[in-house]
Amino acid sequence: MKILVIEDEYKLAEYLKRALTEHNHIVDIAHEGIGGLHLAREGQYDLIMLDVMLPDVDGYFVLRSLRQNSTIPILMLTAQGKVEDRVKGLHEGADDYLVKPFALSELLARVLALGRRGISDASETPNSNLLCVADLELDLLRRRASRAGKKLDLTAKEFALLALLMRRQGEVFSRLALAEQVWDINFNSNTNVVEVAVRRLRGKIDDPFEKKLLRTVRGMGYVLEPSND
Ligand code: CA
Repeated sequence: MKILVIEDEYKLAEYLKRALTEHNHIVDIAHEGIGGLHLAREGQYDLIMLDVMLPDVDGYFVLRSLRQNSTIPILMLTAQGKVEDRVKGLHEGADDYLVKPFALSELLARVLALGRRGISDASETPNSNLLCVADLELDLLRRRASRAGKKLDLTAKEFALLALLMRRQGEVFSRLALAEQVWDINFNSNTNVVEVAVRRLRGKIDDPFEKKLLRTVRGMGYVLEPSND
């Protein structure tokens, strides 16, 4: 794959370049947002790794600019503990995020997964800002949700929760996983906040409709997928 790394920390950028090159990827580096944006538009990349904190413009600016006319897979690099960064990135059209510091094995796994997704996206969905599961639609750029054409009013957390479940439709998420990924809380015992949020979300996206999309998998968690009946 041809990968563009937009990262202002020289050491990290060099490390990424070396590691990815060793795994047969072609890597270019930009240390600033605007420079990275220009490269991204000219370079025919398969994947962009994008840092949030950059010296000139922030990563979200770059993300939004790219998303105006590109569906290229974008992996955000975020600082540890900044859950808002992750949620915001996903809202604005990032495909995935990696929290610093990350293990090389995790990085390579995400890169491969996004590469595959990029190939299938190109043939299936031309607009990666729009998530669809059955008649449920989530527009990540305009922050709009609808089901069967009917607008849904979602809170920011409900939106983030739904975006995660839709991006990974068919995947079962435990309450703990949702708590960590959407709320950035490490619950040991009390994941009640997740249950309450899922119930509210379900009330909005499923209850008024005949076919249910958000299912509880007993003893395991929740999954969003089209119903078979
Ligand atoms: Ca940075």
